[in-house]
Amino acid sequence: MSLPAPNPTKQADGLTTMDLGAVLPQTAEVKDGHLHVGGVDMVKLARREGTALIVFDEADLRTRMTQYVEAFADCYPAPTHVAYASKAFLNKEVVRMANELGMSLDVSGGGEFACAQAVDFPVERVIVHGNNKTPQELEEAISAQVGCIVVDSSDELARISRLAGEMGVTQSVYLRVTPGVEADTHEYIRTGCEDSKFGFTMKDDIAFAAVRDALAAPNVRLTGLHCHIGSQIFALHSFREAVKVMVDFMARIKAELGYEIDELDLGGGLGIAYMSTDAPSTIREFAEMTCGSVKEACEEAGVKLPVLSVEPGRSLVANAGITLYTVGTLKHLEGIRNIAAIDGGMSDNIRPALYGSEYEAIIANKADQPRNAVYTLVGKHCESGDYVVADGSIQQPEVGDVACVFATGAYCTTMASTYNGNPRPAIVFVRDGQARVVTRRETYADLWARDL
Ligand SMILES: *Cc1c(COP(=O)(O)O)cnc(C)c1O
Repeated sequence: MSLPAPNPTKQADGLTTMDLGAVLPQTAEVKDGHLHVGGVDMVKLARREGTALIVFDEADLRTRMTQYVEAFADCYPAPTHVAYASKAFLNKEVVRMANELGMSLDVSGGGEFACAQAVDFPVERVIVHGNNKTPQELEEAISAQVGCIVVDSSDELARISRLAGEMGVTQSVYLRVTPGVEADTHEYIRTGCEDSKFGFTMKDDIAFAAVRDALAAPNVRLTGLHCHIGSQIFALHSFREAVKVMVDFMARIKAELGYEIDELDLGGGLGIAYMSTDAPSTIREFAEMTCGSVKEACEEAGVKLPVLSVEPGRSLVANAGITLYTVGTLKHLEGIRNIAAIDGGMSDNIRPALYGSEYEAIIANKADQPRNAVYTLVGKHCESGDYVVADGSIQQPEVGDVACVFATGAYCTTMASTYNGNPRPAIVFVRDGQARVVTRRETYADLWARDL
């Protein structure tokens, strides 16, 4: 892949940092020309800790987690669980925080579960996902007595039943169903439609047969149904449509099999503002829509209100995180574009290369100036498609400036690589004027520690 087609006539938007609004971490401010987050000067922090550097606004993270938990508790008359989808951003500190704030935790790989276990996250609040969990992952989950395993296939149902039998336990499971809703989002991150590797399709009664099998399988207890219709969803009506399908399915299970499903898990997917022009729904609106839809659909279908779970990832962490880089080289390609190379790129943020994702950027040491230049921020890797911003508005960069890319809190560090032997960046949490490194920078020794 190469860079997106150049746009040599693009005009800078002239916006200043604070004009970026919902894209910014909640405590972002500009003082003495520098971007500050959590009361900490990002330029000084970058120069002290080195770049590339990932910074999280701790107050922002805590606020969103609390808002999610409270909004669902407020909007729904039966119990609710908000499970943090840890694949969006994971380290020990964020798991400790999720635990402290009363959240459940989604894991979709054994290594994620290991992180939760390392900080004693309560296993009964762990939900295990994945479309091809290995026998080892299943064994680890079942023997630890996790709250629930979301079954993705018939093969897996049989495997869980057998393993639980061997261990002499009963495992609570959800079935993942693809409700056939085409969510309004990028096709790579759309998961709820029929042509998907995830879950059981409703078509041809495949999901219904899976329910029947789960009810007949020894050593598993079918407690719930799960769906996840996609990610970065702006149109809340997609959730309403999915709820309708799921609740009607619950009604059919009750009518034909005489079995009442206790829990409904609607997955994640709420969209966030990557660009200043994005207008996502709020956490509150999402809670009102989903809770309201479930209540309405249950009334209509005549089924009892299930325990309701959601699994937000991106909408909890994306805007709280930023990435700081140092500008190393500048190039002017006449009639094509301006290039500023930063000391990171596809190794710490693969999303532009993977999905063509767009980001807002500023020069953190010129944060009070309007963005009056147009630059492509390219990375330092040996791939021509290695970039983080294509023809984006930014303050005029100079070598040695600190560039800041916003909304990098989700699906960046967890998708990071060490391509070109690039150590993965440190992660710093900032709050009330204090900065603490919560994940240290990877070292060259770390890179090669596995080699025998
Ligand atoms: C990725 C994922 C989520 C989180 O999605 P977001 O769009 O980040 O909120 C939740 N549940 C499941 C099953 C997922 O795969």
